[in-house]
Amino acid sequence: MSARQHRRELVLGGVATALLALVIVAVALVPPADGLGTLGFALVPVVLAALGSLRTGIATIGVASLALIGVVCATPQADALVGAGDGVGFVVAGLAVALATSGRIASPGRDDRWFEISNELLVEASLDGYFTRLAPRWEEVLGWSRAELMARPFREFIHPDDLAATNVHADALDVAPGDVFNFENRYRHKDGTYRWLLWSARSDRHRKYAVARDITERKALEQERVELLARLEEMASTDALTKLPNRRAWDRELAVAVSSAHIENRALALAMLDLDDFKAYNDAHGHGAGDALLAEAAAAWRQVLRPGDVLARYGGEEFAVLLPDCGVEEAAELLEQVRRVTPSPETCSVGIAALVGGESAEELSARADAALYEAKHSGRDRIVVARGPKAPPHRSLAARLRRAESVRGSIAH
Ligand code: GH3
Ligand code: MG
Ligand code: MG
Repeated sequence: MSARQHRRELVLGGVATALLALVIVAVALVPPADGLGTLGFALVPVVLAALGSLRTGIATIGVASLALIGVVCATPQADALVGAGDGVGFVVAGLAVALATSGRIASPGRDDRWFEISNELLVEASLDGYFTRLAPRWEEVLGWSRAELMARPFREFIHPDDLAATNVHADALDVAPGDVFNFENRYRHKDGTYRWLLWSARSDRHRKYAVARDITERKALEQERVELLARLEEMASTDALTKLPNRRAWDRELAVAVSSAHIENRALALAMLDLDDFKAYNDAHGHGAGDALLAEAAAAWRQVLRPGDVLARYGGEEFAVLLPDCGVEEAAELLEQVRRVTPSPETCSVGIAALVGGESAEELSARADAALYEAKHSGRDRIVVARGPKAPPHRSLAARLRRAESVRGSIAH
């Protein structure tokens, strides 16, 4: 019970007791005092018991007051004033109320018994945000005693990141009494960690009622699964030797880059890059040294490219570069730097092509490839910029959009 509620019940209890005392005095003074007074007092425990069954606070004060009045009235002085029968009546009234309410005070009511034996995380909360009743299992799950949990607004135990969403649910409960709300949030354990709870809650305009389930283990497994999938995805798209995107990832990146360059009408350049006479390097230094050079070259090239550029291992000793928002001149400058930082004694040949209107990813790749072939055949260790397409693809805007849609569709699958 919250401090505010407790105070309210004490005040109600005081008022109720004062009223009862007035009734008792009035009944005692109405003639014939003895018979009517005793009858009146016999009614008192019934009223108090009814009140007591509603509010423990009132019952407590009522029992104490009546017991006191009963004792006082049983004294000879009071007896002279109100009559022996009334004195006895008071005592009987006090005892009856004590009996009627003691069960309520000393032992839990019917619902409380369920709370006490339940292994579920049952809870009742006041509308002003305090737990008012908690099943014992809460102590095991959160480490706090129930008194500790009830002493502070329950929101103080909720993970700050979950507070806003929980507030929405908690408020909705009161706006739609009777409706059951399911939601998740994290509660702070006494040891400072957080437990994930899955709630089913409802309100009846007076209180909130809820049962929670500790889903911390399940959440941890889910998280592990998400991380594992991300790692698998990463592995499936990364080249193990150079740590660059692999061919699979390259195909995806290229399709996206070409379709968005067309849709947004932006420049895009593509370069194919191949180490020269790498077979000879392998033969001279061994395959292990060849591997090391591939990794070293990839790292050096990555350094001189812009963060938004995509450098991928296309296969073997062949690499591919995507240069968004880049015309042929700028692309040639960037690839010249790439060529310069190639670990010696290796050199590389490069073919560059800039995307033209309506061109597909395959067509762009083929032109860059042809330029690379030309670089190889004209002596290696050089950059060749592809000429434009022989017959520029002439597609209507509708056909281009259809193409962009189909590329996007295939990416989504
Ligand atoms: P060119 O200048 O015409 O490209 O000559 P090249 O020798 O580089 O080309 P070729 O296609 O004849 O040979 C490619 C070589 O690259 C042969 C192959 O062993 C080597 N290679 C491909 N992948 C790897 C790899 O992962 N590690 C190592 N060490 N060598 C590789
Ligand atoms: Mg080669
Ligand atoms: Mg090659």
